[in-house]
Amino acid sequence: MDIKQNIQELKDILPDEVNLIAVSKTKPIEDICEAYEFGIRDFGENKVQELSKKVELFPKEDIRWHLIGHLQRNKVKYIVGKVSLIHSLDSIRLLKEIESRYNKEGKTAEVLIQVNIAKEESKYGIYEEQLNSMIDEVEKCKNVKVKGLMSIIPKGDKEICKKYFKQMKQIFDKLKDRSFKNIKMKYLSMGMTGDYVEAIEEGSNMVRIGQGIFGKRNYKK
Ligand SMILES: *Cc1c(COP(=O)(O)O)cnc(C)c1O
Repeated sequence: MDIKQNIQELKDILPDEVNLIAVSKTKPIEDICEAYEFGIRDFGENKVQELSKKVELFPKEDIRWHLIGHLQRNKVKYIVGKVSLIHSLDSIRLLKEIESRYNKEGKTAEVLIQVNIAKEESKYGIYEEQLNSMIDEVEKCKNVKVKGLMSIIPKGDKEICKKYFKQMKQIFDKLKDRSFKNIKMKYLSMGMTGDYVEAIEEGSNMVRIGQGIFGKRNYKK
């Protein structure tokens, strides 16, 4: 598995306006280091503990760490000041915890609202119908800024993928046209190794790619 070659291929394919996040979960620091040397500055992790450890072991000032996995409320305190973007704001209770922890530290959290567009039981994220109440709460915050939306869509055939990506883009555009306190629809984070081509075709501007850069993950270590 050649990390540099994978990154080069992605750079050749991805349009300029699309932000590439290298998802390094389960992967060692050596792999992160290799991607870093090849110009990657955005890294995605899905677990708070693993992210914290990697921040410590690879403390580069110019890295932007992205928390892409579900964030438990009791873990928020560990990430304040460490992550540049939380992709997984998926409940009002979590929003309140982020607001309170960041407020205590005098810091501002930048977050994406995770939308469970296909309403899958197995996935986190709010339903489209819950966006308005989430937005109402965000507008009351002092230490949280929403920068866009994130979604993980069901695995399936390309046409179904495209349908969900399209729906996300419509929601994103509609919100973008309105004006809210604390909310700027800048990033639409969708697309992973298996579906990023379709995601970009439908308007994603932030893709989260793990295996397509670092190779298959081995969870049994
Ligand atoms: C693991 C993960 C990815 C990357 O998945 P790949 O299939 O390895 O590209 C993207 N987004 C989230 C939320 C993930 O947990």
